[in-house]
Amino acid sequence: MRTTNLYAPTLRETPAEAEVRSHQLMLRAGLIRKAAGGLYTYLPLAWRTIKKIEQIIREEMDEAGGQEVSMPILQPAEIWQESGRWAVYGDEMFRVRDRHGRQFCLGPTHEEMVTTLVRDEVRSYKQLPLMLYQIQNKYRDEIRPRFGLMRGREFIMKDLYSFDKDEEGMNESYRKMYDAYTRIYTRMGLDFRPVEADNGAIGGGHSHEFTVLADAGESSIACCTSCDYAASDEKAELNVIKAAEEELLPLEKKATPGANTIELVAGYLKLPIEKTIKAVAFQTDADELVLAFVRGDHEVNDVKVLNLLEGAIELRMADEEAIAEAGGCAGFMSPIGIKEGTRVIVDQTVMEMYNACAGANEKDVHYVNVNPKRDFPDAAVADIRMVRAGDLCPRCGGIIKMTRGIEAGQVFTLGTKYSEALRAVFLDENGREKPMQMGCYGIGVGRTMAAAVEQNNDEHGIIWPRAIAPFEVVVVPVNAKNPEQLELAEAVYNELKKARVDVLLDDRKDRAGVKFKDADLIGYPLRITVGPKAVDENAVELKVRRTGEILTASREEAAAKAVELLGKL
Ligand SMILES: [Zn+2]
Repeated sequence: MRTTNLYAPTLRETPAEAEVRSHQLMLRAGLIRKAAGGLYTYLPLAWRTIKKIEQIIREEMDEAGGQEVSMPILQPAEIWQESGRWAVYGDEMFRVRDRHGRQFCLGPTHEEMVTTLVRDEVRSYKQLPLMLYQIQNKYRDEIRPRFGLMRGREFIMKDLYSFDKDEEGMNESYRKMYDAYTRIYTRMGLDFRPVEADNGAIGGGHSHEFTVLADAGESSIACCTSCDYAASDEKAELNVIKAAEEELLPLEKKATPGANTIELVAGYLKLPIEKTIKAVAFQTDADELVLAFVRGDHEVNDVKVLNLLEGAIELRMADEEAIAEAGGCAGFMSPIGIKEGTRVIVDQTVMEMYNACAGANEKDVHYVNVNPKRDFPDAAVADIRMVRAGDLCPRCGGIIKMTRGIEAGQVFTLGTKYSEALRAVFLDENGREKPMQMGCYGIGVGRTMAAAVEQNNDEHGIIWPRAIAPFEVVVVPVNAKNPEQLELAEAVYNELKKARVDVLLDDRKDRAGVKFKDADLIGYPLRITVGPKAVDENAVELKVRRTGEILTASREEAAAKAVELLGKL
């Protein structure tokens, strides 16, 4: 490909609409253009990268036993009504009517479509396991589409669905997908972590998010510095912290006027914050009051709390009347003296505290010398706190650090949620009817591209990992008006093409500075410069985008040298 034939309109200025680096760079480098909020056109350079990402995904899905299909994006409402999700999906779903008034949606996901497809054909355990996938556009009417391809309303996704005869098979399919995803992100040259994720809404099963590490990422991740444990901040398990044992002192009330935050209480009573217990009062969607207690310097993890409450769908902050009704007092909550039957959940670390301070369910009053094992021995105890940097790894005891990333893929087991709702059943070895065990595995293709840019850039532009670069090499004649330079550049270009390198010839008659700037901005892994030295001294320059390293080679060796360098990128 020659640049004079390439539609890649680069911009010198950073567009004001773009907040994050990847969005700015993809607009500036002429990769994408906005059509409307959350809708983007992929220009030729971006589309080349998308196709490379898709190809890697496709190869690994096939290798793992997946079969590619293409299901309709336009889906009839009936199958969503059957699963019960038509009513609960809400405004995120694009809904349309045909000329006869029949309702459809633009698929935000395909569990209903694939499950109804499979239920009509699969009758016997002998036809399982089955893994079907597709790569196509998905639609979600996001309230606030943002960050370019990170959160769009139309986006490209690979979605695979597994069907197995039992849980063991489902777990095996899950493992295959986990391994395939690991290979995919490794092949793309990205720094990523498979992160244990919360699977609350689906319940029980496994879930990992494949997170591309980047400072601007929306996901907060706890990573062990000693082993490969990584979990989302919502999911990260924590071990109990045992305080040094002390003699139990008698419970005592203390006036703490105006001290309605844990910091004020600790200051007022001159106690270290680790000796205090704080409360968060929630109400469930069914209006049940839930009081959660953690150590004063810890934070309550509402996802962990919610997962302990069977049947609850969401939590909100409790209102003061609900708290008062249970005998509590906002800002001065305590497990001691709360109305019987009130749901109290105490963090495991709180139970190991001695002579601590907690509220007294009275305005401006706190208890001191609270000893949880003595004073509320029957409370429900669980790990309900939020991880933070410096905590200890639940696997190896190493130190946890917090990092950020972009969730680019997710794998999770679904169990029989959809197969039961949609009656996808089969006959097992004993002729008994059973629902299929399912799993679902997504990769945001455009989002992976954006994440790659977010992770790999510098002040000059993008630094593509070789495997997903729109072109691997750009050959730049310094002065394309000079026939000798252009001829030498074309010779190198043709040799690279023969060696099956994905190469671009920047044959524009612009100044060299403009072409170099564009090469850095677009981020080709390798630039080969053919200038006056190539003509006079037979010296061609090769520059590695990532390191800035510059090598020279003779015209005859340039292509071979480039191939060798690419092998290391
Ligand atoms: Zn560890």
